[in-house]
Formats: sequence, structure tokens, C-alpha cells
Amino acid sequence: MPVDHANPPAAWPWQGGWLQTARACHSPNFGARPAGARIDLVVIHSISLPPGGYGGPEVEQLFTNQLDWTAHPYFEQIRGLEVSAHFFIRRDGELVQFVDADARAWHAGASCWRGRGQCNDDSIGIELEGLEGERFEVAQYATLARLCVHLKERYPIAHIAGHEHIAPGRKQDPGSGFNWSELQTRLGWSSGCFPPDTPT
Ligand SMILES: [Zn+2]
Repeated sequence: MPVDHANPPAAWPWQGGWLQTARACHSPNFGARPAGARIDLVVIHSISLPPGGYGGPEVEQLFTNQLDWTAHPYFEQIRGLEVSAHFFIRRDGELVQFVDADARAWHAGASCWRGRGQCNDDSIGIELEGLEGERFEVAQYATLARLCVHLKERYPIAHIAGHEHIAPGRKQDPGSGFNWSELQTRLGWSSGCFPPDTPT
């Protein structure tokens, strides 16, 4: 059902492009979307720093350009990286927001989906705390599904894909441990919204 943005319902969870149910952690890594961008894509990622390490402050530090590159050997490999996602979902389901969803975050890189390139221009990036090939927590699916519902209240979301789908051969996240059927079942959205190899 379309939402009248001039008269949002009482439980409207958005303040501009900031979701009030998320903990805000402002990233400087963002820009304006192209004029007229139709924000109809959600991109699912996975990240953990160092890889496989959960619960620490490193992902938030990376997205806010505060990571100490000398703190772990792996960090030397990503030294100087300036990236961001709109949202981050921790293993316990906590939701963190780094970038105004109306703005362009830096998560997709060279990419193409639903016939359009430069997916950062018109997508929402969601990072799940995790590791490619490993499973994700039930609490993360619950938060992810709630987030997708809220996104669809504000944006014309019609597609959800993994980074691995929009940048095949270059990216592998969220990987085989992500259960697309679980997300589809929780959302109840048509299979056409999901990557074509999603089992139904
Ligand atoms: Zn990714």
C-alpha cells in the first residue's frame, strides 16, 4: 500500500532517511545519489574484521575511517579503504545505520543488476556480521526482514540481491551460508524480488 509521505502513520519509523530503530553511527563515506535515482534494490553483504572475528568495534571503525591499520595483519591489506554501507546487522541482531538511506553509500563497487550498473547509485547496502560460507544467526534474519519491510515502506524496493550477484566473479559475499529462502519466507515477497537461483 502506498504511503502518503506528507501524512505518515503514527508508527512511521523514519526520520528522513534515518531509521529510528537503528543505532546511528555516522560515516563520512557517502555522497549524493544521481538526480531521479529510483532506489529499488537492496544489496546484502557480509563482513567481519578481522575475518571471522565477531562482536568487536572494527567494522564500525572501518566505516567511520577510524580503523587502526596496524592493529591486525589483515588490516594492512585493506589499508586506506574508504567504504560504507547504509546498515550493519550484528550477530545478536543489533541494527546500526551509518549513512542516510536517501544518500549514496559506498558498498557495491563495479556492479550490475536488473539491467542497471553502478548499483551504489540506487541501492541500499546492508552488511551482515559474518563470514562468506558460514551461517548467519536467526536474530540477524529477524532484523534483516524487519529492515526490508521498513525500507519498502519508504522506497520502491523491488529487488534484493547479494554482492556476489551484482559483482559476480569479483565478490563472494554474503556467500553460501546465507539462506535466501529464509529471508523470502519471512518477507513473503514474490520470488521475482530475489536472485533467480533462490530455492522456493
Ligand atoms: Zn560486499
